[in-house]
Amino acid sequence: MLQRERYFLRSRPGGLRAAALVFACVGILGAAWAPAGPPTDSAAPALQVLARQFPTGTNLRRTAHFLVVYDTDHHWAEGRARLLEQAYSRFMRQMQAAGFDPRPPGEPLVAVCFRRHRDYLAYARRTESTNLEGSGGYYSPATNRIVLYHGDTSPDLAPMRALVRQRRESIEGSGGPRTGALQDLDLVSRRYRARAGRNNIAHTLHEAAHQLAFNSGVHPPGQALPFWLTEGLATAFETTNPAVPFGPGEVNRARLRDLQAWTRGGRSLDLAELVTVLDPPAGTAEERAALYARSWGLFHFLFRRHRPALRVYMRAGGAAASPEQIRRRFESAFGPVEQVEAQWVRFLGGLRH
Ligand SMILES: [Zn+2]
Repeated sequence: MLQRERYFLRSRPGGLRAAALVFACVGILGAAWAPAGPPTDSAAPALQVLARQFPTGTNLRRTAHFLVVYDTDHHWAEGRARLLEQAYSRFMRQMQAAGFDPRPPGEPLVAVCFRRHRDYLAYARRTESTNLEGSGGYYSPATNRIVLYHGDTSPDLAPMRALVRQRRESIEGSGGPRTGALQDLDLVSRRYRARAGRNNIAHTLHEAAHQLAFNSGVHPPGQALPFWLTEGLATAFETTNPAVPFGPGEVNRARLRDLQAWTRGGRSLDLAELVTVLDPPAGTAEERAALYARSWGLFHFLFRRHRPALRVYMRAGGAAASPEQIRRRFESAFGPVEQVEAQWVRFLGGLRH
């Protein structure tokens, strides 16, 4: 069951000092933040449901719009909570300003954070009946939760960890001067972990954008939407540095680099195929990265150049249909794919990362 102490820390007089320290740090970072308060009557049933689903040792952090369930250290979870609130305010403000009419979700959104990657995978297998090896986090429409894990336990770091272990053993066994070499090794290790931490920020914002899109009415619920639309919107909110502007009107440099790497070798953007993809096909890591990059590029282009049509297209949603029907829906909103692709290519040619 959930350890409620963390929750009540914020409402006990004795806990004010600790809470004030946390909020002061958040203030310095300039993040949008609302202090957690005592449980409200409307939140209580949701908390009780959560409490029954997680083992002892799990903590809970309530923010203005999220319930963060976690077994990580408190500091890391506070960082996720802060990011989620940043995602919320950025998403709501930008989508409102762009005329997509997002509605505030009726209840707090749930984010589950695991310390260990293997616990994350076990949870995904249990709740989604699927293997999510290789994912950096996910949003489940079935449970309406986003699920994340600590970047330090990312399998992406396994080769680095093995290399550092090997080098450390060799330095320690060499009998020569060790201090400088070990310090260099620590530096390498810290750099890798910092990179994993930055990627984790982007994953958190990406999954939060999915959750917000489905809970604010920006994506119509219960419909099979094209891959480019859901992933294009989520990738539009990715950044490794939320201190600088990010969102659908900004260039996602990492995705633009992937997109340019894809087209540099003469490979096509293949809009006719892209607009009909519902589930991502199996492929190489490069092909998968390119599919996400093409989705980001298309969403960014339509948001910048065809926004009224994009609003209409998104509001209408679309039931599962044949590829031909999906393509016709796209063309009735934006025009013939050959024509849109030509405009898109010209637009992308003007972007810089
Ligand atoms: Zn996604």
